[in-house]
Amino acid sequence: MIRGSEQFLAIGGVLIAGAVTHGTFFPQSRVFGQVISHGSADGAARVALTFDDGPTAGATDRVLDMLGELGVKAAFFLVGRNVEREPRLTERIAAEGHLIGNHTYDHFRLGMFGLARFWNEQIGRTDKAIEQATGLRPALFRPPVGHKTPFIMAAAARGGHAVVTWNRRALDGMRTTPERIVDRVAPHSWAGDIILLHDGVEPRSRRDPAASVAAVRPLINALRDRGLEPVRLDELTGLRPYRDAPEPSGTENLRSRT
Ligand SMILES: [Zn+2]
Repeated sequence: MIRGSEQFLAIGGVLIAGAVTHGTFFPQSRVFGQVISHGSADGAARVALTFDDGPTAGATDRVLDMLGELGVKAAFFLVGRNVEREPRLTERIAAEGHLIGNHTYDHFRLGMFGLARFWNEQIGRTDKAIEQATGLRPALFRPPVGHKTPFIMAAAARGGHAVVTWNRRALDGMRTTPERIVDRVAPHSWAGDIILLHDGVEPRSRRDPAASVAAVRPLINALRDRGLEPVRLDELTGLRPYRDAPEPSGTENLRSRT
């Protein structure tokens, strides 16, 4: 009997540990609450390109040039510290019709150990920096590396943000080439996918975003060859882009399916 209850406890412990691990580390996991990781696959075949960790002079501006030439609107999840350094580039992202989301102030990778105060500050400070540069109040938040904890989810909700991750990634946060990025993403993308790319460098990293920048044009061409048109993240998901914008209709349907 004792042995039986010990076994029961052990199995329960493993299940709880598994659920917590899944909830924290899997970008698509919803263990800790509502997370959007893909958009609608209905209707026209569309995907959303999302760029993280900018704005970065020499990278974000070149990405914007290419998106402009190809007539594509994307989403940029910005790091607050980088926004304060590049307010004009931040303003340009918004002025050219792209979507801006919050990606924390410091992009601290060990932030999953942070508590309520840490997360409220990380998100609040970044919102303030973005609002100062653009006049816009972000309604979308993406946690660094896709990690989620109850503290992160609560801080995001407190600021009125939906939490958005991705379901397709280029693995361009590490050393790579434009060819590899395109090969990793384009043949495996389907309607409704949220694609993760990087136009920026984490404040404590030496990563070079050059491969990602050079991949933008061939990637968009390859997606279009497959019949997939990149649209803005809010268009793909039905999510409200900014806190002052009205809640679009149809969002609840999408949320219940993701
Ligand atoms: Zn990031």
